Amino acid sequence: AKADGRKRERFFAGEMEVQMQLRHALEADLRAAVENEEFELHYQPLYDLRQRRICGFEALIRWNHPIRGRVPPMDFIPLAEEVGLIVDIGRWVLRRACSDAAQWPEGIKVAVNVSAIQFSGSDLTKDVGEALAAAALSPSRFELEITESVLMENLDEVLPILHALKERGIRISMDDFGTGYSSLSYLSSFPFDKIKIDKSFVNDIADNKEAHAIMHAIILLGDALGMRVTVEGVETAEQLALLECEECDEIQGYHISPPRPVRDVPHLLALPPKN
Ligand code: C2E
Ligand code: CA
Ligand code: CA
Ligand code: CA
Repeated sequence: AKADGRKRERFFAGEMEVQMQLRHALEADLRAAVENEEFELHYQPLYDLRQRRICGFEALIRWNHPIRGRVPPMDFIPLAEEVGLIVDIGRWVLRRACSDAAQWPEGIKVAVNVSAIQFSGSDLTKDVGEALAAAALSPSRFELEITESVLMENLDEVLPILHALKERGIRISMDDFGTGYSSLSYLSSFPFDKIKIDKSFVNDIADNKEAHAIMHAIILLGDALGMRVTVEGVETAEQLALLECEECDEIQGYHISPPRPVRDVPHLLALPPKN
């Protein structure tokens, strides 16, 4: 048994080394990717349920790795955050999203995701201001999506930045609402313009009374606080129909469209109203 244990230890040590090497390789590739412009933004519609039309798009980063192919954001954003590269990548995302959105019709907004590191490791207000100015995009057409982890990181540092951005006419959304440890308590620390209810809450609303009741309650909460309410991850016509009966303002999900390359935006805007 002892020998077995040692063998296992050696195996794990070897395994860990492989993991470390993979990480180093990925980190080196990630650095090169910034220089080589291997990133791309895809856009997913935000669909206004009352007006029955697309009112904006969320920018979602894609990495086209020369050998590995497309690497999903969840496989490189955490690493980019850890090694600080997210600041450069984030700046690129801001600039690209603003210049893309400047080509869209006036009423169409763009939403951009930012990491906690962008609040502490860079001057986010300045970066956003420069991206808007370079594209001549009105701040009223720009939304910033932050998760609870951004607030958890350092509330004292983050709040003044959020207020400064809001004073400039930029809207702030709380992303993945309901998934964190204390989402509710954060709702009172900052006047968010929007909450985006996480997709995990929509899954069962069509067949499970309890799931529907929870969704109903979260939507009412957001509405009572004067926030716009978006439900993420809507995949079926049934879910859309249920949400239409609620005080839900906006939906996002594969039922409307998956994220698409920027060249598909005009086509998406021309689609007929969705049921
Ligand atoms: P998120 O901000 O919550 O983005 C929504 C994710 O849900 C996207 O995954 C989207 O493709 C996916 N999704 C949309 N509709 C549906 C649906 O109906 N069903 C299901 N199952 N999924 C749906 P994606 O593009 O893989 O992005 C994952 C996460 O990576 C994002 O989650 C966001 O946290 C992060 N991310 C993406 N782009 C950026 C970026 O530019 N900067 C930063 N900091 N994070 C980003
Ligand atoms: Ca988001
Ligand atoms: Ca989300
Ligand atoms: Ca409302």
